[in-house]
Amino acid sequence: MKSKEIRSTYLEFFKSKSHVLVPSAPMVIKDDPSLMFTNAGMNQFKEYFLGNTTPKFSRATDTQKCLRVSGKHNDLEEVGMDTYHHTMFEMLGNWSFGNPEGKQINGVGGYFKKEAIHWAWELLTEVFKIDKSILYVSVFEGSEDDKLEMDSEALDLWKAIVPEDRIIYGNKKDNFWEMGDQGPCGPSSEIHVDIRSDAEKARVPGRDLVNADHPQVVEIWNLVFIEFNRKADASLEKLPARHVDTGMGFERLCMVLQNKKSNYDTDVFTPLIQQIEKVTNSQYGKNDKTDIAIRVIADHVRAVTFSIADGQLPSNTGAGYVIRRILRRAIRYGFTFLDTKEPFIYKLIETLSSQMGEAFPELMSQKTLCENVIREEEQSFLRTLDLGLVLLDNIIEVTPGKTVSGKKAFELYDTFGFPIDLTALILRERGYYLDEKEFNAELQKQKVRSRAASVVISGDWQILGKEEGVPFIGYDAMEADVKITRIRKVESKKEGELYQLVFNKTPFYPEGGGQVGDKGSLIAPDEKIIKILDTRKENNLIIHFTKKLPSDTSAILKTQVNKTKRLQTQANHSATHLLHQALRIFLGDHVEQKGSMVSSDHLRFDFSHFSKLSSEELKQVEDFVNDKIREQLPLIEQRNMAFQEALDQGAIALFGEKYGDSVRAIKFGDSMELCGGTHVQNTGDIWFFKIISEGAVAAGIRRIEAITGDAVKEHFTEQTETLNKIKAELKNASEPVKAISSLQNENVNLKKQVESLMRDKAKNLKAELQEELTEVNGISFLAKKVDIDAGGIKDLAFQLGEKTNNLFLLLASEQDGKAVLSCYISKELVVEKGLNAGKVVKDLGKYIQGGGGGQPFFATAGGKNPSGIQDALDKAKSFIE
Ligand code: ATP
Ligand code: MG
Repeated sequence: MKSKEIRSTYLEFFKSKSHVLVPSAPMVIKDDPSLMFTNAGMNQFKEYFLGNTTPKFSRATDTQKCLRVSGKHNDLEEVGMDTYHHTMFEMLGNWSFGNPEGKQINGVGGYFKKEAIHWAWELLTEVFKIDKSILYVSVFEGSEDDKLEMDSEALDLWKAIVPEDRIIYGNKKDNFWEMGDQGPCGPSSEIHVDIRSDAEKARVPGRDLVNADHPQVVEIWNLVFIEFNRKADASLEKLPARHVDTGMGFERLCMVLQNKKSNYDTDVFTPLIQQIEKVTNSQYGKNDKTDIAIRVIADHVRAVTFSIADGQLPSNTGAGYVIRRILRRAIRYGFTFLDTKEPFIYKLIETLSSQMGEAFPELMSQKTLCENVIREEEQSFLRTLDLGLVLLDNIIEVTPGKTVSGKKAFELYDTFGFPIDLTALILRERGYYLDEKEFNAELQKQKVRSRAASVVISGDWQILGKEEGVPFIGYDAMEADVKITRIRKVESKKEGELYQLVFNKTPFYPEGGGQVGDKGSLIAPDEKIIKILDTRKENNLIIHFTKKLPSDTSAILKTQVNKTKRLQTQANHSATHLLHQALRIFLGDHVEQKGSMVSSDHLRFDFSHFSKLSSEELKQVEDFVNDKIREQLPLIEQRNMAFQEALDQGAIALFGEKYGDSVRAIKFGDSMELCGGTHVQNTGDIWFFKIISEGAVAAGIRRIEAITGDAVKEHFTEQTETLNKIKAELKNASEPVKAISSLQNENVNLKKQVESLMRDKAKNLKAELQEELTEVNGISFLAKKVDIDAGGIKDLAFQLGEKTNNLFLLLASEQDGKAVLSCYISKELVVEKGLNAGKVVKDLGKYIQGGGGGQPFFATAGGKNPSGIQDALDKAKSFIE
């Protein structure tokens, strides 16, 4: 079976069991501070498990793009070393939300352990026809820490279908699934395969190798029965409803069904590996080291390409930094083991997108962008590697023994991004060692530093009431009477103790879609005002941040959004839509939004485009937006439009955004976008639009920053003020531009004259000095104060030195209240008499209260005491007497 068919067979099987097929959520997570990337199929359903949202269906199935490179699930170091862990992989899943005995949705109810176990077995053994004799299953044995008993319900179900010697009892680590440190969790049953040869099986029984990191005895499917919520204090609480959450590694399933011993030998990876062999001129399956490198590259190119297609570009912070590091890891493996010194990873994207583009269309539409971004990242990192090699040489040169300082290696790693494993490798090759202890200590210090800056420790929610069906009422209101439904205390290292409040409904817009969260106030019945500092969304809850709590948390409270800020913000947001429209009209349909930030004072819009915008294009864009503002187009907002209908009407949707079936469409004239943000009622409310800057953020990505409304007024006021000041400085010249260019011309001419005068002066001075040279012990000597700058002195000294043998020259000058001493000594004196200009200026430096140094034949010292110059000159002779 080809991988395509395997994927669709899984999904069709669960569709036939009344599951709704849902699309994969984006791999990069934008609205959950506890998770950077989707690491399991269940992430997108977390709010259902937590009970924050009522699902629209009881059963679902999908294939989810996952990335396990950070946080609780981090497989990065395994990838490439083994043959069955990937950074990015597909997780096939089937879910039940709510108890089997709970209420039905569209005539379908939930299920629990019995169906989950039976269907898994049916699919594997009857549909996929996997030989039962290679399968093992595991059951949670219980945990004393958590006061949990063995999962005997699952055990009994398994006993009815598999022989007892195929059942393994697993501990909390293997058979109790948790998404993170907090949140929904529960016991699980795993299904493992043993794909070793018969001879090996005869030697060691498979059950001894389950969960023992054997590459051919691996877990393929995890059936999780969610019954608990892990609280902040690590205790468990029973959830009101029970859920099923299963996840099967697609690539591992392909390995089993295609009778391979490695995920990389399945048709998911072979086209990529062939392409790597071709572009790097290497061969897979010949040598352990190159094999690892090829696997790393085949894996990482998928992770990075999917992320970029999802809208996450490599960058210096957060998720973008993780992506950059993955890409660099691949580049580095190529560099060291495949001898690739030129960008090559971008050449794999064609293969990847033609192979997976059908299941994940974003790979097709974003192909060129991915190629450009990756090529540029490769180029820049290869330069880093080159520079790093030189720096490492320098470090080795000054290393006294054979152990290289961990601190220095850390610097190389931290400031230049030079990989530490490469440092260690090169050192080993040259017979040196890295002080790993010191390096690790530095790394640890840095970790503590960055953790201290960001970590927010959350307490548990204290539940006071229930949110309403549509809790956000901010499209229509900026004020409302509300009740608190949840309170949680959080500790931010930056801001100290904060409270997070959820209301039954709220006019506050939570940060999202590029628009900042609303600020405002919360007014208690006693008229005390508590500031709402920010509003954000987490697992579908709208969370308000405050520093204080009202004295009565059960009272009805008045909320007021900061209206000025909100109005400015929405003017900027609506202007962003018009800007987007203008860019597509004047630059072309390839323009796609790649990032957006809308606040009360400005807007920032990143988009795909390959060259700098000309001033003409910028003017066209700006004029277009201002025309739309003048046309006073009314806002046409459709809140519950079917997703497909919106697309059919020409609405623009963003890649990497998670849209439900029903979407909100925002229309101004011909501009139509799917958007959850807040907007002006009429484009006239934007007043005026002005682009402030245009530049590049990455290969093929441009950024425009702009302002609207009052900010434009302020901008022009400032500009006018500056212009007036300039005019005043130019004695109110009627044409300031002309006046400035004539000043510049004058300046150029004057400079030329000064230079030629200085040259004459130096010539005269040289002749003068030559006359004044005296002979002391066979040495041509002069110590004198001159009236030229340090650069002039140096030129002069070297010119004299060329003409005069055995010269000892000390020249001093005074400039801007500071003293400079320069000493020139002919090379033959340095060699024969051991004289040293560096030592001379160091010694004499004390008279001018300063110091300096240089080389034995020329050195300079600076000091703050010009009155000491004469003393220094007087002492000069003593060096040769
Ligand atoms: P393992 O112990 O092999 O790392 P896991 O316990 O971390 O697996 P789960 O979190 O239960 O795995 O994920 C469900 C399924 O996803 C696994 O049974 C496996 O088939 C697949 N899977 C997990 N991690 C990876 C990975 N890094 N690459 C490919 N498939 C994976
Ligand atoms: Mg794992």
